[in-house]
Amino acid sequence: MSNKLLAKLNQIGIRFVRILWCDNANVIRTKALHRVTLADYLKHGVGISAAQQAIPVMYDAPAPGSGLGPVGEVRLVPDWDTFTPLPYAPGHASVLGNMVKDGQPWGLCPRNFLKRMIGEADREGLQVVAAFENEFYLLRRTADGIAPTDETLFASTLSMEIHRQVIDAIAEALVEQGMLVEQYYPESGPGQQEISILYTQALPAADQQIAFRETVRAIALQHNLIASFVPKIFADKAGNGCHIHLSLWQDGQNLLPNLEQDGGLSEVARRFIAGILHHLPALMALTTPSTNSYRRIVPHCWSGAFRCWGMDNREAAVRVPSNPELPSPTHLELKTVDPSSNPYLALGAVIAAGVDGIRHCLELQEPVTVDPGTLTESERSTRGIDRLPTNLGEAIEQLRSNQVLLDALGTELAQAYLAVRQAEWEGMKDLDLDAEVKLLLERY
Ligand code: GLU
Ligand code: MG
Repeated sequence: MSNKLLAKLNQIGIRFVRILWCDNANVIRTKALHRVTLADYLKHGVGISAAQQAIPVMYDAPAPGSGLGPVGEVRLVPDWDTFTPLPYAPGHASVLGNMVKDGQPWGLCPRNFLKRMIGEADREGLQVVAAFENEFYLLRRTADGIAPTDETLFASTLSMEIHRQVIDAIAEALVEQGMLVEQYYPESGPGQQEISILYTQALPAADQQIAFRETVRAIALQHNLIASFVPKIFADKAGNGCHIHLSLWQDGQNLLPNLEQDGGLSEVARRFIAGILHHLPALMALTTPSTNSYRRIVPHCWSGAFRCWGMDNREAAVRVPSNPELPSPTHLELKTVDPSSNPYLALGAVIAAGVDGIRHCLELQEPVTVDPGTLTESERSTRGIDRLPTNLGEAIEQLRSNQVLLDALGTELAQAYLAVRQAEWEGMKDLDLDAEVKLLLERY
């Protein structure tokens, strides 16, 4: 393998191989290995401090109470199945790293967490297929900060012309890396864009989310633009969602639709969604994990502010989109997710919640057929529709007392993850939007 790999690197002119990881603060990081010494690292990968999994988004220092500190080393071992030459960085390639300690998958490795949750779904006979639906802003630097690249509206043809070169270059690079680009349209916010990628198995879907963010930001940079996935950049404009689309399969068959009732959900789908909704307030510490996330989760912004579900309902946390032909529906969409979430942790936790719904035969509430934000407080409470957490502090408290998600994470990952979230909450909760965006802009 090693000789073949090295020959391939030489042949395609790769100088550096970037070994990527995504930490508990959802920052994508890398150490790059040079081709001429790569052979020395093939077996054990590259070393990183265990404390890397304790770092909050504000600075490079471990959060107190994480259980991790300056002593302790893990290996970042390349998963060569994810090796990809980077079309936007000639001479560079990327590969995702698995965190390994003492020769075993490390309990704090996010990728390993997702693999374990895929294994839990598998124990129920289910394969999870997913896609992350990204929104992002294109911005310019100005003398006093940042400004959007246009002032257009949703699906604006003018915006499409303004951004044609940069979007074409992004799409090309995504396709070259094996991602199947589906739809592109200018989103509602000024300079805001959406490019969707076809669904795939859960692990590659999360891997692709890393590659997607890397590609969009790198290519925007080459066009002298800043691409940002920060959930809410402008207070009165649309936020950046990263809705998770998901379906459950068995033996090549999509289990979402109820084949005996046209347009209905199967029992397994109903229980899975009930599990997501049951755990959602705690799950949000993983799917909408930054202080900034909660500026986005507000009623009437299609961001999933209410704990409910509905067919084709864009204000419900879980939307079940109808399919134009039977079988329908084919998948669910969780809207209470944004791109400041680590995709491995977010998707893994969603699977854990859904699988718990199946194991406990949770009953799904009635679908909501109106905008829940237009109901009165008492109408909502009669129908069992809760407003979801309105700040990160609330979501952290929910996660602290959610044994199902804590057990899924495992003791060490839960401790470090909660410490990182707590440090971010304490360090950022009093920042105003401008200061928060300034801090996050080069992170997400
Ligand atoms: N921008 C919205 C959000 O914050 C989503 C809009 C849409 O439904 O695509 O999630
Ligand atoms: Mg959208």
